[in-house]
Amino acid sequence: MAVNQRVPIEQVLIVGGGSAGWMTAAALAQTLGPACRITLVESEEIGTVGVGEATIPPIRHFNQRLGIDEATFVRETGGSYKLGIEFVDWGRLGHSYFHPFGQHGAEFDTVPFYHYWMREHLAGRIAGPIDDFSMGWAMARAGKFAHPSPDRRMIQSTYDYAYHFDAVLYARFLRGYAEARGVKRVEGKVVDVALDGASGDIRSVTLDDGRVLEAELFIDCSGFRGLLIEGALEAGYENWQHWLPCDRAVAAPSLRQAGIAPYTRSTARTAGWQWRIPLQHRTGNGYVHCNAFIGEQEAHDTLVDSLGDELAGDPRLLRFVTGRRRAFWHRNCVAIGLSAGFMEPLESTSLHLIQYGILRLLALFPDKAMSPLLAREYNAQTAVEYERIRDFLILHYKATERDDAELWRYCAAMPVPDSLQYKIDHFREFGVLVADERELFNNPSWIAVYLGQGIVPERAPAMATMRSHVPVAERMQSIAGAMQDAVAAMPSHSQFIEQHCRSAAAA
Ligand code: FAD
Repeated sequence: MAVNQRVPIEQVLIVGGGSAGWMTAAALAQTLGPACRITLVESEEIGTVGVGEATIPPIRHFNQRLGIDEATFVRETGGSYKLGIEFVDWGRLGHSYFHPFGQHGAEFDTVPFYHYWMREHLAGRIAGPIDDFSMGWAMARAGKFAHPSPDRRMIQSTYDYAYHFDAVLYARFLRGYAEARGVKRVEGKVVDVALDGASGDIRSVTLDDGRVLEAELFIDCSGFRGLLIEGALEAGYENWQHWLPCDRAVAAPSLRQAGIAPYTRSTARTAGWQWRIPLQHRTGNGYVHCNAFIGEQEAHDTLVDSLGDELAGDPRLLRFVTGRRRAFWHRNCVAIGLSAGFMEPLESTSLHLIQYGILRLLALFPDKAMSPLLAREYNAQTAVEYERIRDFLILHYKATERDDAELWRYCAAMPVPDSLQYKIDHFREFGVLVADERELFNNPSWIAVYLGQGIVPERAPAMATMRSHVPVAERMQSIAGAMQDAVAAMPSHSQFIEQHCRSAAAA
């Protein structure tokens, strides 16, 4: 009997056709092949959340895995390149810093660059911010873009990149990819979910026209509502609003700008923060805010007024509750995308969580026996990933000197998770970074946010102070010179796009 149950899954049903649904459909179709029938049901009437435009570098691996050509992808999605995020007014009003993808400086000794930078900075021998040693920021500031060099001896190998793109066009692009590989799309609204009386597993869903869709494995990509994982299976939700209090966003596209900036801008406002994401055919904007500190209409007006009269579409309000599902995989259902949880888009992590949800599911793919052991591992890994990202986001709110508004006073005073406090304490006291190998955001990201938001170590890391014979000033000077030369030789971001991946939508 047990042997019989080790039978491969033959039918998967994905409920939802937003970015999560079509990313999942594309990856499953490519990996599972024709042995497994994959159906995706979505409702045009309900629609998708329609935002989600900024990403982080691992998205490139997802596309590469699917065999998608980069230039085609950027062209089809109206995309642009992203070197990092500029944070304006976060640590204090009138101050900004850059969170780059890639490192600061370049290694010239066994001791990391930032240890020496810290030593020099604390000794008063360097006046400027660590951003001055970021290739990503040097390029972003100059509006330049070129692919990084694979040669690790070159300064051009020290930055990394991701994309901005139109999430609706991305889902459409992946739909074409998935359908070409056999995924069947069904238009319809799920109105009922039938559970197996004995096991409690999902047996089928029923559509509004009476059709019944059966499967062995169900992927819930139904968005915030979590139609299967919560609506039918009641997995539960862990609420993180006390740490990340924003619960609304008003989003409004504006006309595209003349030069397309190769980075996202995040500007802290009185009751939240505003994003600016440049695409080829428009600029994405939004005000993520906390309803306890600003009304919806005032948030709307704040955003629209900041854009002048350049709107390229109607503003839309989105409501959310920050947190995560208590179980992402429950019985024969796996929640991927907004149905699994949500953290605000401050560091562009949602599409990444979708990507890793899919890859993790493929790595632990069940058979018809649907062992709870697999679900347990999936849930454990995913929970850690959510919590690591959560801590990094909380740092942005906690580390602020702003006291001009209620939100910032609340955040500066709030207790943070022990896991984050532990990291902050190490950095503040010793200049040491605490990370485990599962950390999505690595050392340069933490350094950028700590220093950018005013957490400066009391002393330089010990090794840097011991190695006084290393010609640090000389090395730093040559790094700065190499950066300057490299940036000067690069095309502008707009030229790069024009040459390699101009979108028809931009015309
Ligand atoms: P949705 O897009 O909501 O799709 C849900 C799907 O389920 C739809 O197709 C819908 O029709 C279908 N559906 C629902 N109910 C039914 C039903 N009863 N029957 C049939 N079908 C149904 N992420 C990033 O990575 N970067 C960003 O910059 C970013 N910015 C964001 C800004 C905001 C304000 C918000 C709210 C999110 C942002 N995100 C961002 C997150 C990102 O938008 C989502 O992670 C991503 O779009 C995936 O959404 P989804 O597919 O899970 O849900």
